[in-house]
Amino acid sequence: MVDLQTQYLRIKPEIDEAIQHVLNTTAFIQGKDVSVFADALSTFLGGTPVVPCANGTDALQIALMALNAKPGDEVILPVHTYVATAEVLALLGLKPVFVEVDDNTFNVDVKALEAKVTAKTFAIVPVHLYGQCADMEPILALAAKHKLHVIEDAAQALGAVYTFADGTKRKAGTMGTIGTTSFFPTKNLGCFGDGGAIFTNDKALAEKIKMIASHGQKVKYHHEIVGVNSRLDTLQAAILNVKLKYLPEYEASRKDVAKYYDEHLAGISQLKLPARTQNSTHVFHQYTVQVVKGDRDHFKHYLEEKGIPTMIYYPVPLHLQNAYRQPGIGEGAFPITERLSRTVISLPIHTELPTEQLAYITSTIKAYFAA
Ligand SMILES: *Cc1c(COP(=O)(O)O)cnc(C)c1O
Repeated sequence: MVDLQTQYLRIKPEIDEAIQHVLNTTAFIQGKDVSVFADALSTFLGGTPVVPCANGTDALQIALMALNAKPGDEVILPVHTYVATAEVLALLGLKPVFVEVDDNTFNVDVKALEAKVTAKTFAIVPVHLYGQCADMEPILALAAKHKLHVIEDAAQALGAVYTFADGTKRKAGTMGTIGTTSFFPTKNLGCFGDGGAIFTNDKALAEKIKMIASHGQKVKYHHEIVGVNSRLDTLQAAILNVKLKYLPEYEASRKDVAKYYDEHLAGISQLKLPARTQNSTHVFHQYTVQVVKGDRDHFKHYLEEKGIPTMIYYPVPLHLQNAYRQPGIGEGAFPITERLSRTVISLPIHTELPTEQLAYITSTIKAYFAA
């Protein structure tokens, strides 16, 4: 699914030097690389301030804490997504309100959103799934109308660009009240362990986020508000400083892989290839197809036997996860998401896939469906 080894070897001298520099200075916590990285990422995002933290899940939790979410507040999130959002809501005593997704884009179904808004709704968390932005313009309009916060989960879409009706272009994570991301090793910008970041254009809010990530303090041992301990290690920041320079190149490699799949898997009637939306670029964190005719798990097993790894994101929808079941919301509540959990399969996509491997993958898939 990924080849982090080859990716590392291509930039080894730079990475090794960056790591060695941190070792030499022993500034393991809040060393200079952390603020250098925050500034560089902010520039990449078009100027939105960045607060680094320990991982993408913490980023979501800190975002909600910074906005003063109170127990009982409702937060609307797509039901077809990674567990992190539902998890932090539960930890903070907030109520997850699931909403259906669109089976073309895999992102939140904007038409289904408004019906979920109640007097208790606090925020909407659109997730830019698989690398493509959710339809932010109507989401932001709905949020403005009902005075809701928008927290964009950009863990899978760092670098994706959304275009508004007036032509304005914004990067994923910089459009809502707050944006969050993750530097988990397999993400489009991955470090060598855990890492995350929080973005906001509101400078005062950015200061508060910084405080929360650091035990609620601005001045050491003076705790103004309740916080958490969530820091990006200097070592990880040093690695990210090197890798951020390569992010546009990595994005281009992923797009090339997607293009190859598009061209070589077109015309297989049993497969639905990933659709592109009009208003967002796709940075292809995943290349996710749907097995619309046939047995997805049988197909997955076949590929595995041929040495081709695949992944299912996600095999169990959030509303059917034991930890997040809600009374009255069972099997059948979200038919599209439930169907996707049985039909989606993500093919290998990363920055180090040579054409020979792609040719092997696509010819193996074609042979399977032709049989
Ligand atoms: C990876 C991911 C996260 C969480 O990131 P961690 O750094 O692993 O905590 C959150 N949301 C989405 C959509 C993700 O893909």
